[in-house]
Amino acid sequence: MGLFSSKPDIKKGDMVYAWTSDAEIAKKAECGGAVTTLLKYALENKMVDAVLAVQRGTDIYDAVPTLITDPKKLAGSAGSLHCGTLLLSKMIKKYLGGAKNQKIALTVKGCDLMGILEIAKRNEINLANLFIIGVNCGGTVSPIMARKMITEKFGVDPDTVHKEEIDKGQFIIEYEGGHKGISIDELEEAGYGRRSNCRRCLYKVPRQADLACGNWGVIGDKAGKATFVEVCSDKGADWLSRAAKAGVLATEAPNPKGLEMRQKVEGAMLKLGEKWRKRDFAALSKDPWGVISKETSRCIKCYSCIENCPVCFKPVEEMAKKSYMVEPGQVPPNPMFHMRRFAHISDSCVNCGQCEELCPVEIRLALFSHAIRAEQDAVFAPKFGKPAYSN
Ligand SMILES: Cc1cc2nc3c(=O)[nH]c(=O)nc-3n(C[C@H](O)[C@H](O)[C@H](O)COP(=O)(O)OP(=O)(O)OC[C@H]3O[C@@H](n4cnc5c(N)ncnc54)[C@H](O)[C@@H]3O)c2cc1C
Repeated sequence: MGLFSSKPDIKKGDMVYAWTSDAEIAKKAECGGAVTTLLKYALENKMVDAVLAVQRGTDIYDAVPTLITDPKKLAGSAGSLHCGTLLLSKMIKKYLGGAKNQKIALTVKGCDLMGILEIAKRNEINLANLFIIGVNCGGTVSPIMARKMITEKFGVDPDTVHKEEIDKGQFIIEYEGGHKGISIDELEEAGYGRRSNCRRCLYKVPRQADLACGNWGVIGDKAGKATFVEVCSDKGADWLSRAAKAGVLATEAPNPKGLEMRQKVEGAMLKLGEKWRKRDFAALSKDPWGVISKETSRCIKCYSCIENCPVCFKPVEEMAKKSYMVEPGQVPPNPMFHMRRFAHISDSCVNCGQCEELCPVEIRLALFSHAIRAEQDAVFAPKFGKPAYSN
């Protein structure tokens, strides 16, 4: 790993603090605005044809994926949204032609990225045309849970909240009349907090992206004002170098204490993820098939789980009727419908949680399929090592 200061010759493995020179981006950005500045630089300099960003919709609980082709509009996409129902991977295949005929720069969380990699393995996304900025992710909260938690635990009307953030282990809200933070641990012990798949996630720093950005490790006078950037590929190194040399963002070597802290926080988050895995999977240890068949008896065959899964993208009709042998008119379907779907994705489930998040009858589908994937990983890891990215 190399550390350097101001006029960088940046290479893969480097880590820097970076911050924007653009006042409009600085005002709206989550930290140093490096992410939005890099996206804007790529679009302005025709490195890409478009940027896929996530913007606030009708309120702070509504995260809207947006394709931007006008660099002037990028500042509006700055800032982090922790409460959307969102996964970007399948959208690239479904609505952007798998990036086969256009170059796209985008910001992703770990789960978005794992989904993209899985789809790319199946030749349905062209990775060479993607410029990927990964953001560290401690987890997201579903919009419904966020509203419930803000009402019941914070005692605040969720419609008066104009900003939310997750910082130093707290979920913090700013609302008309004040701001309040409650520790995530306390919220989760009381049954609120992050999505259950996010709690179990072990992919906190997305190092398979070109650049991995976050706020962990930014301390001292740069705290809150710089973005921590880890350079993960040659493409990322070139992108950051060009932007820094053009003067659209500044960089400096990270504080060594900050580096240590970043490592510690990542380690603590991974331990927490392991704790939640143990806890959640224990519920299945006695009679897994009994639990699964009882819960899936609520299934109404809407196929949302197939439609929204990033690793399963055969036409829903074909999957449901042929591969899974679902009888027309039979509700609930034979539990084997679900078992076969789990088997079909068991080598590649990325624990993104979309199947569960979007299930109208709230079957814990992500838990079941994640447990199966994790068990298989555990069986083969001693001989073959852990997967490159671990869900
Ligand atoms: C859900 C979430 C959780 C995070 N948790 C952590 C954490 O625990 N530790 C840590 O170090 N950093 C975390 N981050 C990253 C951090 O909040 C900043 O995004 C990062 O430091 C970059 O700052 P910036 O000022 O350069 O970004 P900005 O210039 O403000 O740009 C932010 C970018 O994030 C995109 N974005 C916003 N919301 C989402 C979303 N839900 N999904 C995908 N893209 C989105 C925007 O489109 C924009 O491109 C998290 C980010 C998100 C979105």
